[in-house]
Amino acid sequence: MAYDILNPRPRRKHFKTSTKKRVWMKTREEFKKKWIYLETKNFIRHLRPLTRKITKDELNAQEKHLKEFCKLFNIKNKDKITIYSVKDREDMKRVFNYETNGRAEPQNNRVFTVYVYCPHEVVHILSDNYLGEPNNLLGEGIAVCFGWDDGWHGKSLEDWMKKFVKEKTYIPIKELLDDNKFKRKFDDNITYPESGAFVRFLIDRFGIKKFKELYSKIGWKRPVKETIGIFEKVLNIKLKDLEKEFIIKLSKN
Ligand SMILES: [Zn+2]
Repeated sequence: MAYDILNPRPRRKHFKTSTKKRVWMKTREEFKKKWIYLETKNFIRHLRPLTRKITKDELNAQEKHLKEFCKLFNIKNKDKITIYSVKDREDMKRVFNYETNGRAEPQNNRVFTVYVYCPHEVVHILSDNYLGEPNNLLGEGIAVCFGWDDGWHGKSLEDWMKKFVKEKTYIPIKELLDDNKFKRKFDDNITYPESGAFVRFLIDRFGIKKFKELYSKIGWKRPVKETIGIFEKVLNIKLKDLEKEFIIKLSKN
């Protein structure tokens, strides 16, 4: 069920604390100032009046991206996804009190973003809701792999990986399997493209069906040893052998 912040139904559990309630009240005030409302086949959009005008091409690109992702992973999207687009990071902080460029809330089927075209966050919504709750490595990996049209910041994922291996900034997969380290210990500019490249490698090597099985079983914040066990059982290969293949494949290209 799409959640419409303009006509909210009470969902108290999300606004337990007074701070959150205050943010909510502020947000409602903001929304009263006429956001631009748009609806397409799979999306409900709320755009801050300050954001630049959204083009037909962008609306179509978002639909096309969803259609292609759903087709590839055999997903039937049932509910429209609500997208709130704000002007920039500062605006995001002011209106929603989030310090981010993008935030996906799969449980509420909604996205908050500084962009108007936001395939990365949409992949988070679809994959979490239809493929299972993953760890950071697979969750960010799939969103990077299928959520940026041109690799990562203008460079292909393979090129990023070559750079990491060459400069010895590559992070061992075992480390990235640890949800307690992924976002805290390492630089996003390495973890994200590396995860994307790894997901691409897994899909090329084992196919979508196996990847989906792994994705649905991997779980969030499991002990690393358990996660490695799931990897090795589903893919029928030792993680260290898999990682060797991954690096060899990258250095060959
Ligand atoms: Zn993400």
